[in-house]
This record gives sequence, C-alpha cells and structure tokens, in this order.
Amino acid sequence: MVDADINDQAGTTSSRGDARSGTNSLHPFQLLKRLMPRGLYARSLIIIVAPMVLLQFVVSYVFLERHWQLVTERLSAKTVAEIALLLSEYEEDPTPLHGTRIAARANENLGLPVAFLDGEVLPDAPSSSTGLLADSLGDELRQRVSRPFWFNTDRYTQYVDIRIAYNGGVMRVLSPASHVYASNSHIFLVWMFGTSVVLIIVAIIFLRNQIRPIERLATAAESFGMGRDVPSYRPQGASEVRRAAQAFMEMRARIQRQIEQRTAMLAGVSHDLRTPLTRFKLQLAMLGDGPEIDELRADIYEMERMLDDYLEFARGHQGEASEETDLAELIDEIRTDALRKGHDVRLELHGDLVLPLRRNAFKRCLTNVVDNAGKYAAHVWVTAIRDVEADGHGGSIDIFVDDDGKGIPEEQLEEVFRPFYRLDAARNLDKGGTGLGLAIARDIARGHGGDITLARSPMGGLRAVIHLPV
Ligand code: ADP
Repeated sequence: MVDADINDQAGTTSSRGDARSGTNSLHPFQLLKRLMPRGLYARSLIIIVAPMVLLQFVVSYVFLERHWQLVTERLSAKTVAEIALLLSEYEEDPTPLHGTRIAARANENLGLPVAFLDGEVLPDAPSSSTGLLADSLGDELRQRVSRPFWFNTDRYTQYVDIRIAYNGGVMRVLSPASHVYASNSHIFLVWMFGTSVVLIIVAIIFLRNQIRPIERLATAAESFGMGRDVPSYRPQGASEVRRAAQAFMEMRARIQRQIEQRTAMLAGVSHDLRTPLTRFKLQLAMLGDGPEIDELRADIYEMERMLDDYLEFARGHQGEASEETDLAELIDEIRTDALRKGHDVRLELHGDLVLPLRRNAFKRCLTNVVDNAGKYAAHVWVTAIRDVEADGHGGSIDIFVDDDGKGIPEEQLEEVFRPFYRLDAARNLDKGGTGLGLAIARDIARGHGGDITLARSPMGGLRAVIHLPV
C-alpha cells in the first residue's frame, strides 16, 4: 500500500513534467530557449562555436560558388587562348616539322604538351559534360576555337585531355589540370577548418577554467544549504565570480554568527531558569508531603523536562560535522531502539542510501518522528527511497514514516511543528511530550537542506515525509 501511494506520487510528478514539456503552443524563441543546453559551459561553447560554424559556411559557400568558379573560368580561358594561338600558328604552315617545332616551344615555354596528329579523327565518345571545369572549358572552346573539339576532364587526374580537329588531323593537348582548374583550393578549406578546430580547443580550455570557479561556488553554496561544511572553499576566477563568492562567504559567516548568537541566548535563558527551579525543588523537599505539594512537584518536574528539551533545541546541531552515513544502518538502529521501547516498526529500504549527514542530529530527527508514531499508533512503517536524478548524480532521499493511529486533523498538520504546540492536552491523552519533538525534527531536516511534511497516511494514521537532498 505504501508502494502504491509512493508510485502514485511519482506518477503525479511525471505527468506534471509532461505538461511542462508540451511544445505545441510554443513561440519559436521559447522553443530555442528550451533546446538550448542548461549548463553555462555548453551555452558558452555554443555562443562561440555557432558564429564560427556559420561564418565558415558563408565563407565556404561564397568561396566555392564565386571565387572558385571565377578562377576556373579565367584559367580555362587562358589555356584555350593559348591552344587557339598554337593552332593558328600551326595552320599557317601545316607541316610535320613545323608542328614538332611548335610542340617543342609550347612544351618549353607554356608547359603545355601538344601534338599535331595528322590523319587522326576526334573520338566518338561525347566530351565530359559535368562539373564546373567541363562547363567553363566547353564554353571557352566553343567561343574561341571555331572547330570541332572534344575533351575529357576525368580520365587523368593530373591532366585534361583536349583535342581539336583541323584539316586532315587532330591537335591533342594534355593540359596540366592546374592550368585550367583551381584544383588545390580545398587547401583553403582545410586551413579554415583546421584553424577553427584549434580555436575551438583553445576556447574549450579557457572556458573550462572560467566556468570551474562558478561551479565551485555553486557546489559550496549547495553544500552549505545542506548543512555540510566546505572549509577548503576559496574565491577564484573572474572578478565578478570572486565578488559573488566573497558575498556568499560573508553571508555564510553572518548566518553562522546569528545562529550562534541565538543558541547562546536561548541556552542562557534556559540555564538561568534552572537556578530558581532548583531552589523551588529544595524548598518543596522541605515542605514534606501532601496532594497539593505532589501537584507542585509534578509541575516542577514537567518544567524541568521542558527546559531540558528546550536547551537541547536551542543548542541545535551546529557543532556536529557531517560525515558519510549509511541511512539504512541508521534507520535499523532507530528501529532497534523503537522495538526496545515496545513499538512495532517495519522497514522497507530501496536504493543506495548513503549520504553526508550530521549523524547524531539526524538520528534525533528521525527518532522523534518514529517515536511519535510509536506513541500514537500500534504499527509503524518506515520506508526510505532514493530518487536518482536523470543525470545520474545527486537526487534525493525520501523517508516515509507511516502509522495506523488517529493521525492529526488536516488543519493542524502545520501547527504541530510550532514549538510547544501539543494536541495531546486538548485530546486528553497526555503522552508526556513537551511539544518540541516535531519542531526539533524539522529544524534538523531543514539544517540538512531538506524538510519534513505531514499528511494522511494510506495506513490510516499520520504520514511524515522527511525529504533530504543528496
Ligand atoms: P511531543 O513532544 O508532544 O510529542 P511533537 O512536536 O513531537 O511533541 O508533536 C506535537 C503533537 O503532534 C503531539 O502533541 C501529538 O499530539 C501530535 N502528533 C505527533 N505525532 C503524531 C502521530 N504520529 N499521530 C498522532 N499525533 C501525533
């Protein structure tokens, strides 16, 4: 039954989560906000990397589309002009000897291997037709050489095969690819990509160093909120972070001073009240016996007990340092104590229940709640559940203390946490409490960054839930 109810709670949480994650009616800006990573580190990286990637896309596009095309066009125009010149030169005296001489000069001065092949014809296969080079070469040949031509840009990787028909033969040119084509422009992209990778790595290293002090400050503030000491914390990093850290440390010191002041004052008051009380006791002892005297004695006894509780409440738990504690073990100890007092306590423990706690203080907190349940009910169920967060660390532990007693009326579930507030006197079932048990328990739970809440238990009585962040 406990389980069913706990699952029910989990269900409520997740359905609330679903409702929040609905994206139907989201403004695009809100959607972008939701898609952004939550961590400062990832966000800063995006702020640096996104413009860089965008810039690269724009530059690559402009470069490839405009620059590359223009360079290729100019190079092929120049090569075709050279070829046209050589051909017209050859045609003035179309003898093999002249052809050989022109070929030698072209090779030597232009770096262009040329051959005039009498009797040859153009290949049957069509010219290359795809790609930037094929386009611009085709255009240029068509414009500058008014003869049938054929070319192939793919067969050789280093050369472009260009053939032009003349009367009685074919002029064959094996133009080096670099003459017609901006072929090594990918180097530009490699450089651009390479330098951005280096920049990103540098950015990552710098960002890590900038963000680490913020993470440390957050962890220190969290630990302090959970009652854990962080003696090694020092302000570090950029001046704004240092300022925040300094302010946090001063605030922490102020809070600690206030707690100490409160404790000292309350302890002083309780202690001072003890002296007259001891005098009363002595005087009463001398007065002898009688029904009125017995009543007075009982009152004084009660006042003393209240003062003891109060003193303990006032003293708090500040002195104790928090240490790794296995809650399963602690709960088992409390159960053994409760069994000794004659209470029937059953346990149900789920998951890893180890966390830093002020052990004695927390034992007091849980004992108060379990003892209450034992006092007011026949059966007590203690269930502890570890709730791990989606990212695998942190999360929280919930301890449910259920009983099958009379419970507490709905409207008084908060009231009973007030110091010295008791229902027993009004309900005529005085169990000898002083009304501080729950106040102390809540104080301790809050000192650990958690809280205690009360509700109706599925077992019929009261359910106390102690929530602890891990
Ligand atoms: P006390 O020292 O009197 O037990 P607490 O602060 O622990 O003081 O509790 C305050 C009041 O809440 C008690 O007087 C009691 O009437 C009521 N109470 C606490 N726990 C339970 C419980 N498990 N079932 C019913 N009543 C409870």
